[in-house]
Amino acid sequence: YLQINNLHKHFNTKQGNLVVLKDINMTIKEGEFICAVGASGSGKSTLLRQIAGLDTPTTGEVKIDGVRVAGPGPDRGMVFQHYTLYPWMNVQENTEFGLKLQGISKKERRDRASYYLSIVGLTEFARSLPKELSGGMKQRVAIARALASQPKVLLMDEPFGALDIHTKESMQQFMLELWERNRLTVFMITHDVEEAVFLSNRIYALSARPGTVSKEIPIELPNRTHAVKRHSIFHDY
Ligand code: ATP
Ligand code: MG
Repeated sequence: YLQINNLHKHFNTKQGNLVVLKDINMTIKEGEFICAVGASGSGKSTLLRQIAGLDTPTTGEVKIDGVRVAGPGPDRGMVFQHYTLYPWMNVQENTEFGLKLQGISKKERRDRASYYLSIVGLTEFARSLPKELSGGMKQRVAIARALASQPKVLLMDEPFGALDIHTKESMQQFMLELWERNRLTVFMITHDVEEAVFLSNRIYALSARPGTVSKEIPIELPNRTHAVKRHSIFHDY
């Protein structure tokens, strides 16, 4: 489904050749929730950028359904730590924005945005501006926007890193429920190992030392049915 084969990424810096990712091999199956953890500077964002097609691997490849990634595309939805919503656009407009670039009709854009805003529980806030929303709500807009292009995989880079602890826990719960209900495939980067254990089917650890090989650590599947039942999606964040 999502396949990373022998991926290396080097940067030419003033200090010389910096090896950030070395021989990365990962497989993410449809419907999995996978996290990659690693210390600051271990190359997590760099890895996600290669998958997103925002940057090109030095060698190796990223494939989606057997097709090599060569740039950003609607098959990969991105969510970043700092929401990256346009402050002058309301929630609905922010959610529709990427679809316009894909040449999707106005009606389809409106329908999709409304649908995905309802999925993240923000229907009533469609006309609000980002500044009128809490951090958790802004991140839910970013998730709706990423899902609106109906991607094969949702890529998230420290999505809850900027949130206070209470909102973060609610959002983790929310994310799990969203994933289960909508059968999403998610690849999330986090430096929070506890978060990774709570959310994922499997964890990849990136070594803290640049240039060392990432390892795959198998982790038991958490009892999600139990976790999800704790509270419901549409309140408390
Ligand atoms: P954090 O947890 O702080 O977000 P990270 O694991 O996401 O860290 P990256 O942002 O992927 O780390 O950076 C990994 C290494 O690659 C760092 O040493 C960084 O300085 C270097 N790096 C990233 N992008 C570039 C670039 N465009 N040019 C040169 N070096 C880069
Ligand atoms: Mg990063």
